[in-house]
This record gives sequence, structure tokens and C-alpha cells, in this order.
Amino acid sequence: MKVAALAGGIGAGKFLRGLTRIVPGPDLTVIVNVADDVVVHGLHVSPDPDSVTYWLGDVFDRGRGWGRRNESFRATQELRTIDPDAAWFGLGDLDLATHLFRTGRLAAGASLSEVTASIARRFGVGARLLPATDDRVETRIECVAQLTGEPLDLHFQEYWVRRAARDRVKGVRYDGAVEAVPAPGVLASIAEADLIVVCPSNPVVSIGPILAIPGVRDAVAARRRAAVGISGIVGGGPVSGMADKLMPAVGIEVTAAGVAEHYRELLSAWLLDDVDRGLIPRVESSGIRCAATDTIMVDDDRAEAVARAALALLT
Ligand code: GDP
Repeated sequence: MKVAALAGGIGAGKFLRGLTRIVPGPDLTVIVNVADDVVVHGLHVSPDPDSVTYWLGDVFDRGRGWGRRNESFRATQELRTIDPDAAWFGLGDLDLATHLFRTGRLAAGASLSEVTASIARRFGVGARLLPATDDRVETRIECVAQLTGEPLDLHFQEYWVRRAARDRVKGVRYDGAVEAVPAPGVLASIAEADLIVVCPSNPVVSIGPILAIPGVRDAVAARRRAAVGISGIVGGGPVSGMADKLMPAVGIEVTAAGVAEHYRELLSAWLLDDVDRGLIPRVESSGIRCAATDTIMVDDDRAEAVARAALALLT
């Protein structure tokens, strides 16, 4: 069985550990968001592809959610002694090797797809990991500064990491998306998959930028009958992250049903959490088959159960 999954970072990483038990190896293609990518100290950092790689490569830190286990932050601490303001994006010492490698290869002319595949190979990731595009797409958050009320136009990482999501969000843009081209294999993997899975990822800053790349939304919509999603919104809020602050700004209700309705033209099945079971009739009334299970993925067994429940909706 071939599966194509659209993925952000942490929620996707947890879930994909379960899905890879059912679909091991390259029959699973993971199409990962790159609109969170950011240049830090001149290094190209790809937070979502690295999260998925670290989770699937079994070096993730489940407690912290992002980055690697047994990580140290000596280089970042040292940087902070030189310029506290420059070290706002904490890069771990082991993690730095990934960014050094990526930046060097990109500077030498390799594509983001090639570099992402090399890094995934290093960590023994069996799935095929594709960045959504090799081109630059950047999620920009238009907001109002919490203290001064001045309008701000921030890179997503500045909004989320540097300013801790404290500013009032007015809108979200995906700069560069219209000119971007899907990375090699993205459209074909969607067209050829037996099943398509939208991971429990942020619909605004993880899945939204993937769908905004010309051709991707249409490719998924053409496979709607084979596509299932898992809600990252549980009990009216995200399990982690800032989706609740971004979703209202783009008109998505912060409920498991609101996200399902947002994906209505793309998915024919939706898995939500047990606590949201009461929303099943509403989701089904918009033409989407719906079921509930415990989706809080505290370990790989739970992630596998979530993956099985999602696939069961379509098979
Ligand atoms: P990020 O860019 O690393 O934050 O990546 P994602 O977009 O993949 O992750 C955020 C989304 O994952 C949020 O909507 C979270 O609620 C969701 N999420 C994280 N852990 C879980 C979980 O255990 N269960 C469910 N259902 N959603 C989760």
C-alpha cells in the first residue's frame, strides 16, 4: 500500500512513528512543510523536515517536542554571551551539524530535496521525505505589536520563537508560494498513492503553505475519496503550538469540526479525538466520514492506533 502524507513538524512526527509501523519503507512518502525555514547565523534551518527526520530517526526529544535527545546548547549559550539578542533561536550543538551540512550543500548547488534526502538517510529514515518545494516559500505573520500597537510583518519564527506569539494576529501570507514549484515527486506521489493522509499538523502554518504551492491543492482534491485527516485540535485547542492564535485570523473555527470543514474539498474522512465525539454528526453533515479515538499520542503504540483508526475510515 502506497501512502502520501502531508506533514508539519511535531504533531506529524509523533503520528508518523505510528504510520511507519503499518507502512514501512519507501511506500510512505512524507511531504513536509518548508515555509517555516529560516536563516539563522547564515545557516539554513528547516524546522519541520528536521523534526520529522529526528522523530522517524528515533533521536527525538519527546519531552521538549523539538530537537534531539541528549542535546546540549553550548554554542547557543556562548553566542548569548556575545550578543543575547542574536541567540533567540536556540540551536542545539548536535542539531548545528545538520544545519551546517544543509547550508554547505545548498551553497554548493544541491537542491533542498537532495539535502533533505541525505539527512534522512543519515538518520535511517525509511520513508521517502520530500520538502514540499525546493523553492523559497516563507510564512509571514501580519500582526499588531502587543505593547505598542504598531503593525508588524514577521517571519513565522520571529512571531513564534522570538516574540513568543504574544502579538495579535491579523493575517497570514505565504510569500513566494505562487511562484514556487512542487519538489520532484510531490505531485506524482499524491497521484499514485493508495491513500493520502493529512497529519495532525497546524492547518495554517504547516499544511496551508504546502497546499498553497501551485498544483498541490488540486492534486489532493482530485484524490479526495482516498484522503483522510487527523485533527490536531483537541477539545477546542491545539495539543501544542499556537494554532488557536492563527486560525481565527484566517477564518478557521478552533474546533476539530472547524478544521474538517476547512479541508472539506480535500478530504473524505476525518479522525478526531474522543473528547470531540459530539462533533461527529456536524462533520458528517459536511460530507466527511468521521470517527473518534484517543488521539493523544503519548507513545508509539498510541500513534499506531491513531494511524490504524485513520486508515480504517477509508478501507
Ligand atoms: P510544528 O510546526 O512543529 O508545531 O508542527 P505541527 O503543525 O505538526 O504541530 C502542531 C500540531 O500538532 C498542533 O495542532 C497540535 O495540536 C498537534 N499535535 C501535537 N501533538 C499531538 C497529539 O498527540 N495528538 C493530536 N491529535 N495532535 C497533536
